[in-house]
Parts: sequence; C-alpha cells; structure tokens
Amino acid sequence: MNEIEEIKSRLNIVDVVQSYLKLEKAGINYRACCPFHSEKTPSFFVSPARQMWHCFGGCNEGGDIFKFVMKIENIEFIDALRILANRAGVELKSRQGDAWQKNKSERQILLNLCEIGTRFFEAYLKKSAKGKEANEYLLKRGLTQETIEAWRIGYAPEAWSHLSDFLVSRGYKREDIVKSGLAISKDQNKFFDRFRSRIIFPIRGFNGETIGFTGRIFGNTDENEAKYLNTPNTLLYDKSQALFGIDKAKLEIRKSDFCILVEGNVDCIMSHQAGLKNCIAVSGTALTPQHLRIIKRYSPNLVLAFDMDEAGNKATKKGVALAQKMEFNTKIIPLTDEKDPADIILHEGESKWRKMIETAKPVNEFYFELALKNKDVNLLEDKKKIIAELLPIFKKIGNAVEQSYWLNKLAIMVRVEEQDLRKEMEKIKDEEDNFEVMNISPKFKEEVPKTKQDLLEEQIVLFILLDRDNISMLSSEIVNNFTGLSKDILLKIIENPKISNDELLAQLKDSPETVNLLNYLILKSEVEGEIDDLKIELEKCVRERHNLINKNSRRDLALKIKECEASGDLETLQKLLEQFNSLTKNNKKDNENQTQKNIKDLELISSEGEGLVEETAEEVSEKEGQATGENKEANQEVVEAQGQDESQEINNQEI
Ligand SMILES: [Zn+2]
Repeated sequence: MNEIEEIKSRLNIVDVVQSYLKLEKAGINYRACCPFHSEKTPSFFVSPARQMWHCFGGCNEGGDIFKFVMKIENIEFIDALRILANRAGVELKSRQGDAWQKNKSERQILLNLCEIGTRFFEAYLKKSAKGKEANEYLLKRGLTQETIEAWRIGYAPEAWSHLSDFLVSRGYKREDIVKSGLAISKDQNKFFDRFRSRIIFPIRGFNGETIGFTGRIFGNTDENEAKYLNTPNTLLYDKSQALFGIDKAKLEIRKSDFCILVEGNVDCIMSHQAGLKNCIAVSGTALTPQHLRIIKRYSPNLVLAFDMDEAGNKATKKGVALAQKMEFNTKIIPLTDEKDPADIILHEGESKWRKMIETAKPVNEFYFELALKNKDVNLLEDKKKIIAELLPIFKKIGNAVEQSYWLNKLAIMVRVEEQDLRKEMEKIKDEEDNFEVMNISPKFKEEVPKTKQDLLEEQIVLFILLDRDNISMLSSEIVNNFTGLSKDILLKIIENPKISNDELLAQLKDSPETVNLLNYLILKSEVEGEIDDLKIELEKCVRERHNLINKNSRRDLALKIKECEASGDLETLQKLLEQFNSLTKNNKKDNENQTQKNIKDLELISSEGEGLVEETAEEVSEKEGQATGENKEANQEVVEAQGQDESQEINNQEI
C-alpha cells in the first residue's frame, strides 16, 4: 500500500469533510450546501461507501479527500498530503529525501516559520523577565496557566531583531521571513521584527496550524504604537478569511448549531475557558462575507457579541446587515458600559456570560432598543431621529405580520399614528447594498471539459446503473463505438448483467480513471433515485448520441469538402460527396431501423403493453421528422461549405 492509499484507508471522508462543514444524512450518503458555490438547496454529496464527494449543482465537481482538502483550503496537493498524513498518523517516509526537503512548497516554509515563531514567543513568555510580567497580566485578566499554554500565547521581546536573527541562524532566508509576516524589510539593509514588546496570540487555520499572529502592546509606553498589530496578508493569512479560534471551535459550532462571534482574542479565549467553546473572534478587522461563508459551513445560527460604543455601533450594524443578507438567523448580545465578554466572565462569572448568550436578542429587537438608547421620546427632535433610524430597518422585514408588529410597537413608543409611520416608510428608497462581490470558488486548476458525447455516454451508464435490465437495450456493437471510459463499464455489464456495483468496481480496478467515473455515477444514481420513464429516457439518450456523432461526422466531411474545393482536387471531392450522401441516407435508415428495433425490444421487455409501444413509436417517428430536418441542415452545411456559386458548378459536374 502506498502512502496515499494508507492515508485513505485510515481516514473516513465523512469525518474529514465534517471537520470543515456540517453534513446531514441523506439515505446512505451525506449532503450539505456546497462550500464551493452559492446555493440554497444542498447539492453537495459525500458517499462513505465510495469515499468520495461530488457537487451535483453549480460546480459539478468532485473527488476524494485530497481534492476536497486542496479545494477547501485552497492549497496544492503536496500540502493537502501533509495535512491528511498528519491527521491519519502516516509518516511520509518516501518523501524525506534531500530533494523533498529542498523542494518544500512556499506554503510549507511559511508554516514552519510560523511554528518556530510561535515556539520562540512561547519561550520568551515563560523565561524572560518581561515575559513573566506579561504572563502575570494574562492571569490577572482571568486566563488560567493551562489556557495560556493551550492557546500557545507568547511574548515578543523588546528588541529589533531577536526573532529574525534566530530564524536566520536556523537557515531561513530573510525574504521568506518577510513573506511570513514576522519581519519587515525596509530598503536593502533594514530588516527587523514586526512584533516587538507585545503579547502574542497565534492565529491558527482549520487544522490548528499557526498562520499568523496578533500582538497586543505590553510594557511599551510609546503612544505612537498601535494597541493591536496583526500579521499582514500573506500566503497563509488573509484577514478577510481568518477566524481566531476556528480550529478549536469548529466542531463545537456544528454540535451546538450556533456560533458565538466576538471581537477580541481574549474574549474568545475566555469564552472557551468558560465552557462555551463554539466561540470565534474576528480579530482586528470588520466582519466580511468570507468570514460568514466559513461560519455558515458549520451553522446558520449566529450570536454576535459586538461592541456598542459609538464606533463599534457602525461596525456592528454593518456586520449584522451582512449576516442578514446571507440569511443567518442572527441574535445580538448588546455589550455596553465598556464591558467586553472577557471582563464579564471575569467579574460576573461564567453563568452571567451563559445567560447573556441564552437571552441574546433577535436583530429587530436589538435595533429597537438601540434606537431608543439615550433619547427622549418626548422631544420632537429625538422622535424624528428614532423614526429615521428604524423605518429603513423595518421596511426590509419580509413578513407583513412581523413588520406590523414592529411598526405598531414604534407607534406606541413615540406616540405617532401607525398610518403616518407607514406613509413615511413608503417614501424610503430601497437601499442598495453594496457588499463586496463574493469570490466563492477558490482558484483551482480546470480539468479538461467533457464533450457532449462523453456526457451522453455517462448518462447512458447512469440509466443502466439505475436499472440493470436496461442493458438489453444496448448491443455490444453500439457500446464498442463509445469513446470514453463509459465503454469499459458498459461492456462489463453486458458480459454479466447481474454484476453488483462492488464487483464491477473490483473488475475495473486497474483503471483508476474508470473507477472514479463509476464511483461518481453510482453516487449520482443513489442521489437521483428513481427516474420516471427510465427506458424512454435511456432511448432518447442513445438516439441523441447517435445523431450527435452523425452530425459531427457530416460537419467534418463538409469541412473536408470545402478544403478539396479550394485545392481543386475533384476526384477526392467526388468521393467525399458520396460519403456525405451515404452518411445522410444511413442516418435516416438507422433511425428507421432503430424504430423497428425499439418496437421489438419494447414488445419483449415492456411490461406496460401496447400503449407504451405506440407512444414510443410515435416519439420515434417524431425523431425521424427531426432527422429529416437534419438532412436539410446537412445539405445546408455542404452548401455553406461549398459556397453558393461553386456548389452549382460541382453539382453540374457530378451530374
Ligand atoms: Zn458546488
């Protein structure tokens, strides 16, 4: 068994996918809304039996665990291999040679740098005098020593290049250290540590690997320094996507089916320490659609605990609007009096925090209270302000009863007629939400697109998989003309129509491509379930394929005819025209034969008797009509290919 097989045998695809998104059971498979395109009905399926996934919706893509991790993490195969090998506990022995070491991907180099950086900061927190002070400070804020270690919090010393020097001494290139975000380079000569004199919170990716850092100022009284400093965007860290705590919270979010979103790293850590581990933080940035899209993979229920001061308000509102737009069920914990969740947990206890989450307010209620805050409903000016703030929000409520409820509540509160509020509301123009366009699908190498013929042949295999008896409608003569991998599958079924899916897979195991296709088609057959008029659908497909091939051949011939004309090779031209005509005649004859064959087949296999035969015959003759139409089309093709005047000449000669 090679490493890849070993990893696959040790990991279950359902577990791997579940660690990135919430799956629900659907028969023998699992499904979810596709993480790679935007959709409301789930068309992303995972098959534990086949150990594969496939999106039958917008992207129509699928594969194994490796491809899934590559796509969802947006990484190269080699990096997905490392992640999954690590997860499976498989040592990548064959890849420990010099060449492998030398050819580490850039991502791997940056990951190593971030890991060494984390250890460096951890050591300084434990061992340096200032670091010990920082540790004391963290304990005072309520973090336990155990928590500090579990979250790998560290300290960056007050020095210009301790870390950089250390990394260089370990053989890392300066340019890579800069690329990791740990150092800053100015001009040619200046090269210094980004994080100095700060408490360091490592930011981790889905699998717990450090991808960046947040540094909180400590022990430096320079007022020009920002309180918080984050790693800039790097190959690993993208602030619009990174969520602090996601590695520790993802499974909890799925389990509890809601996500607590806070602003600060310490708030997030304290919530975990208090036992509410379904908590993550957007650290040092506004909430983006990308953040929300990641959260939605785990749960559509969101509890926001954001700052309510004047500046925080605006950011909160924007975040809430974004979550609403992305159809989250959003609740809000209004944080006031300059108290953040970490302070609440420290001073008022874990139970208080728990209670605040349980009693979080639905969005509209939150807005209502917010609008009334610090205002006097008896003053006309304040009254107008409250109304102006709330009406645009209420206008967006889709449900009329709910809208009425809030308008009525507002009318009573500000003592204005509800009718007047409605009139005012009508005047409000619908706001255009200019949220940034979401780039849902990560960049990924395109596979060679399948031809129409490939797709038709796959569809034919699918219909046979759905009902093996249908194989009697195909002769090996027809199947031998199939081009793609479908041919091998069908020939095996013709050989033994009773063959089970597993036996079929076993017999085809020498061709991994064919196995992949078959796995995909089996999953598709499980997902699609029963199809009405399966036989008729199958027959349509066979016919369509036949016509397609014929049409393609005629098109090719028409092109050749044109070439011959240009070169004046009349002898070949004559032959080609004959071929063309015979192909056109054959097409007609085939259709006739097919009609008879189908009727005969249907007489043999149809359990529904005369009606179906007549119906099918009718349909076939309808097709024939189309075929005749196509003959005209083909002639047209020749005429077009020949050019009007010349065609006259050729016809004269021919005749
Ligand atoms: Zn998709």
